[in-house]
Amino acid sequence: MSPEVSGEPAGELASKCLCGCGSNVRAEYLPGHDSRHKSALIRSVLAAEAPGTDDATKDAGVEAYAVILRRGWVAHLDKSRQVAQRNRD
Ligand SMILES: [Zn+2]
Repeated sequence: MSPEVSGEPAGELASKCLCGCGSNVRAEYLPGHDSRHKSALIRSVLAAEAPGTDDATKDAGVEAYAVILRRGWVAHLDKSRQVAQRNRD
């Protein structure tokens, strides 16, 4: 009797969803979790840009911005930034 008779072949579910929810996925994200991750990154960058923020928040924002750049989400960030600016005024 092989232990691999039932379930997924080993390795196929090796990666975790990139949003940080901890789910095992075959692709980069669970369905819909890419936008969830995007929102979290954008929030992180906007928090880092807010006046009087601390160093840890700034560092997190720099890291989040690098991911946004890499994934081509800068346009989404700009849009959210404009909304945040409007809400501040
Ligand atoms: Zn996820």
